[in-house]
Amino acid sequence: MSTETRTNLLGLTRAQMEAFFAELGEKKFRAQQVMKWIHFYGLDDFDEMTNLGKALRAKLKEVAVIEGPTEEYHHYSQDGTRKWVFRLDEKNCVETVFIPEGKRGTLCVSSQVGCALDCSFCSTGKQGYMRDLTVAEIIGQVWLANRSFGVPENKGHRNITNVVMMGMGEPLLNFDNVVNAMDIMKDDLSYGVSKKRVTLSTSGIVPKMYELYDTIDVSLAVSLHAPNDELRDELVPVNKRYPLKELMKACREYTDRYKDGRRVTMEYVLLEGVNDTFQHAHELIELLKAVPSKINLIPFNPFPHAPYKKPNNMRVRAFQEVLLNAGYVTTVRTTRGDDIDAACGQLVGQVQDKTRRSAQWQEKIQPKMIEVSDISRANRN
Ligand code: SAH
Ligand code: SF4
Repeated sequence: MSTETRTNLLGLTRAQMEAFFAELGEKKFRAQQVMKWIHFYGLDDFDEMTNLGKALRAKLKEVAVIEGPTEEYHHYSQDGTRKWVFRLDEKNCVETVFIPEGKRGTLCVSSQVGCALDCSFCSTGKQGYMRDLTVAEIIGQVWLANRSFGVPENKGHRNITNVVMMGMGEPLLNFDNVVNAMDIMKDDLSYGVSKKRVTLSTSGIVPKMYELYDTIDVSLAVSLHAPNDELRDELVPVNKRYPLKELMKACREYTDRYKDGRRVTMEYVLLEGVNDTFQHAHELIELLKAVPSKINLIPFNPFPHAPYKKPNNMRVRAFQEVLLNAGYVTTVRTTRGDDIDAACGQLVGQVQDKTRRSAQWQEKIQPKMIEVSDISRANRN
């Protein structure tokens, strides 16, 4: 248990920062100056905040800290991809990945340690749920990644142009903290990521989706993965609670609400022989008629003991072709940072597997494994 009683300013939104400074009898603009020092310039030392005045700096040191996770490990890949394992506390770590693509730099951020939802193809789900991240721990990933690019020396140059809440965890099940962290990401004094470029990905926690629309404007991605309830129940078990009809209605509400031509990104992991046939593609087209959407296909990223195979490129292209022909913008997520184990669904952190879910699972599905070479390939990653 931490005995820290000082307020951690890293996790405060602009409004909260202003309220904090008001309590100290300070003006709004002081809060804004500090916000910029912390996030834009990447500082964690009040003494370096040169426009604050000695007395205020001394006061801040008494009542506040600026504290993020600590870096346990980092690896920068040949292709520019960066991956970090950030330590949150004695027991828990999370993973964060940066993927550069031309002028764009996308940071994939975690919201929970593990995940309770146990999707059948996801290694994060296999480790079970440990705990939610605090706001400081969520925004701290952006803060630390940004610092790795040399702020404040590279003043003004923003390497992180996009943030996706697609790391470990289900962001809508850590609602308040994720919303506040996204608020800080979007703030001009901080990272200035535009609302179109902050994307929340959810497996479909329907009531929380509506709450999200009422709370903050960000891009929405939905982990669909199957075009009918029978299959989706199996792949994304939370579908039993919020079936496709309700999920599609919630997606439609998102595009109707904003009326600015935006679409929902439908994520669809391709599992060979499970959800990647022509019939599935046609069923998907039918389903999506109700919602303005674009589709992002993610060829399955294998991990040890997974009972699925990644379809070959021809199969992926064939599936994509059907959707393209039906008029859907359909992209295929290329795997990046393969050499550092940073692909989707391979984010497992360094946490203990409290539930032994992975081991039980292995015992259960091992006899069904088709190709041993697949396992060893995954193990090498
Ligand atoms: N929990 C949220 C966000 C994190 S997962 C969600 O499920 O949407 C980010 C994306 O990676 C999701 O679309 C998820 O389904 C996908 N994913 C998980 N495991 C994967 C794997 N092994 N291969 C490919 N994609 C995977
Ligand atoms: Fe959780 Fe998303 Fe993984 Fe499903 S895919 S287990 S919701 S992190």
